[in-house]
Amino acid sequence: MLTKKSVRQISESFQSVLNFGLLNMSLELFSTMRVVALPTKTNFRGINTREVALFQGEAGWGEFSPFLEYQPSECVPWLLSAIEAATKPWPQFHRSKVKVNGTIPALNAPSDIEQIVETFPGVNTFKVKVGDNLSEDIARLAKVKSLRPKAKLRIDVNGSWSVAAAVTNLRSIYENIGAIEYVEQPCQRVEELRELKAKLAVDIPIAGDEVLRKSADPYKVELSGAVDILALKVQPLGGIARAHKLAQHHDLPIVISSALESAVGISHGLALAASFAEINFDCGLATGSLLSANVGSLPIVDGEIEVRRIDPNFDGLEVSPERYKWWQDHLMKTWAEIA
Ligand SMILES: [Mg+2]
Repeated sequence: MLTKKSVRQISESFQSVLNFGLLNMSLELFSTMRVVALPTKTNFRGINTREVALFQGEAGWGEFSPFLEYQPSECVPWLLSAIEAATKPWPQFHRSKVKVNGTIPALNAPSDIEQIVETFPGVNTFKVKVGDNLSEDIARLAKVKSLRPKAKLRIDVNGSWSVAAAVTNLRSIYENIGAIEYVEQPCQRVEELRELKAKLAVDIPIAGDEVLRKSADPYKVELSGAVDILALKVQPLGGIARAHKLAQHHDLPIVISSALESAVGISHGLALAASFAEINFDCGLATGSLLSANVGSLPIVDGEIEVRRIDPNFDGLEVSPERYKWWQDHLMKTWAEIA
């Protein structure tokens, strides 16, 4: 008869065999790493270049690009996603092109807004970053609306309002701008979103983003009564397969979005979007328009992007040896959290 101790020993040794296979595979994969710095057209989240690490496995190129301030533990799902992207074939698709939205950073100069809006040809929806200053937010929204009067507008607050501020600001935006498709993450915590939903007098659906992707266990977050729509992002949710499982688990309307990623990362977001039988909203996968150089091109044609794998071109984009070393260390620290 197996004692508890021997069962544990067997399972531990089995685990180490598994880890050993995974370790070999992953170290080989990591040895293909290239790191690029992509210049942004405007200040986005306080940055002017976006560094991303790419590696190539048997299925193609995967992207590992957590934002630089993230601790290794927070980067674990990003790395799992990159490993999946490089080693696993894409799932079956329900479409070959994906409808996308334009993304407008927190810009204020009307000419800057106009320039960015023009980089999203034919899109029917714009997501506008708001949250720092109500009158500037309203002016930014009004400017986008004047440029594309038929487009739907959604806003992203990145969790920066209190419940009270959200109640006041959303009413004011609604009164000044009119219908808003949805507001993404008006407050930070799920309890706040639930309270806001109960108090919000205007009809603006709430979408959850950080509440899922920054949660230690995105399966355990109770979203009912707090959000109406779920934003799914491939990298922070740990890959395409896991994003599907999370969507199934939470059973809410979904919108597929991205971090500011290179064309490689975006291609996997497009694959996620293409692999859902039903998509309820235009997808936030056109952020390549915010970069002034990229490793590949995914052009927006009539508001849509074609789904395809990217074979990156690194010319003139690779980082200094010091930055490469930083990414190597960061990758191995993140890997140490998994292996
Ligand atoms: Mg967001």
